[in-house]
Parts: sequence; C-alpha cells; structure tokens
Amino acid sequence: MPTLYVVATPLGNLRDLSPRGRDTLAAVDVVAAEDTRHSQRLLDAFGIRARQLLSVHQHNEQQAAGKIIECLAQGQHVALITDAGTPAISDPGARLVARVREAGYTVSPIPGACAAVAALSVAGIVEGGFRFVGFLPVKTTSRRTALMALAGERDALVFYEAPHRIEPCVADMADIFGGGREILIARELTKLHEEVASMPLAEAGAWFAADANHLRGEFVLIVRGADVPDGIDANALRILDMLLDELPLKTAVRLAATITGAPRKGLYAHALSQRK
Ligand code: SAM
Repeated sequence: MPTLYVVATPLGNLRDLSPRGRDTLAAVDVVAAEDTRHSQRLLDAFGIRARQLLSVHQHNEQQAAGKIIECLAQGQHVALITDAGTPAISDPGARLVARVREAGYTVSPIPGACAAVAALSVAGIVEGGFRFVGFLPVKTTSRRTALMALAGERDALVFYEAPHRIEPCVADMADIFGGGREILIARELTKLHEEVASMPLAEAGAWFAADANHLRGEFVLIVRGADVPDGIDANALRILDMLLDELPLKTAVRLAATITGAPRKGLYAHALSQRK
C-alpha cells in the first residue's frame, strides 16, 4: 500500500535520527522536504541518496500535496521531513497529511525528536497536562492579546519563540501572567550549548541580561499553568487581571466578583498570587 511516512528528524544532534527514520528515508521513492538543500545535508550525513527530492514548504503545501498524491497514485512511497523535529508541529505538513488522508492513502508516523516534547520531558511537571501554543503572534498587541487569553489556563503552556523576540515576549508573560509564575527556558536542546533553566517569570529578564549567550539559539518556553481556584473560569480571571492593572487589589476583586459572579474568596487568592 503506497504510504506517506511522516519522519521526525534531529533538532541538532544527528544521532537523534532513529534507525527506522533512516531506513525509511533510504527506502522511499520520494523524499518531500521543507528545504531540500538543508535536508540534502542530513541525507548526505547518513549516506542516503534520495531517488527524488521534492520541496514542500508553507507557501506551496497545497500544490505539493497534489504532486505527492500523484506519486502515491503511481504506487510510490513518500517520506515527509522538515528542517528539524517533527513535521506538522509548528512546521509544514498538516495540510499535506489532511489531503493525503482524504485521498484515501495511508499516512504513517516515524516518531522522533520534537522540541516541545524534549523540553516537557525535563520540565518536571508533576500534575496536570500541557497545552502546546507554539509561536505567538509577532506584533506586540496581538501577542499580548494572545497571552491574556491564556492567563487562566490551568495546564502548563508550551511556546516556541525566536531569539530576537525572546526578551520582549518573556517580559509580556511576566506582566500578564504575573511575576510569580515559573518559567522553564530550554535553549539549544540536544546541541553543544544546551541549557535548561527555570525561575519565576519576574527573574527571567535578569537571567537574559546576565549573559549574552542566554539570548542565542533556539528556545522552548514552558510556563506553569495558572493556579486557578475552583469555580473561577478563565474569563473571570482575565477580567480580574485587567482590573488589577488599574485598581487597588481589593477594589479589583470586588468589581471582578460583581461583574463575573465568581466567588470573591477565590478571586482574592488569585489576585494575591498575581501581585506577589
Ligand atoms: N517541528 C519542530 C519540532 O518538532 O519541534 C519545530 C519547528 S519550529 C519551525 C522551530 C522552533 O522549534 C524553534 O524556533 C524553537 O522554538 C524550537 N526548537 C527547534 N529546535 C530546538 C532546539 N534544539 N532547542 C530548543 N528549541 C528548539
């Protein structure tokens, strides 16, 4: 049965390509890659000569999906890879996968590295789940709006962020989530300068300022979920947080309770944790 294999590739350390991933890339008729030049280096490192390399990136995914479905229709096997990690996770692939599944062909994962999962595995989140957010909007106002919508989330939040936006992004997180919430900064995972550090959000700015190297490389950020008391939903917390920005704590709590109907005691506890 012609199959589209979705193959995870290393985040930096070449030895993280699984034996099954390597075998699949060597065996398929077509390797569909986000950046063919970049992926050629990976294939070369493993002595793999792809029979056919095809480009699939965010700007041509629909068109490429058509070509890949044609390959599958001719009985060919195809592997999809991106520049690093697992395709379709903040990377091209999801549209292609959907189209191929719709066309009735098998799509099979060849799992491996994923930056979010690697960071989560060293985060020590004992309770609760996590929510994968990926990249936040680039513009400040949109980013802050997105963070406000996440402020009441109880699960840990997992973000990807580019190095040149990391400082303002973390400053916004401290502002919106409150300085007391813990952040885990996972930098350059699996690479020579790998670093994993955790601290309250209020201290993250100083951590970045302390060493220029702290701003280099690739980052996953994991922020602990909100400590939300029972009976209070995310909307009530958002309103409370907005009022806390403008008013004394007690007034903000009283107004938030009146507006949302949420219990005052729980709102008060949350307000105290935000101000800490
Ligand atoms: N599909 C990939 C995955 O499975 O993780 C993610 C691709 S996304 C375009 C790239 C982002 O992933 C980077 O900006 C960074 O946030 C994160 N990332 C990739 N490699 C990383 C690494 N070695 N250490 C930390 N974060 C990394």
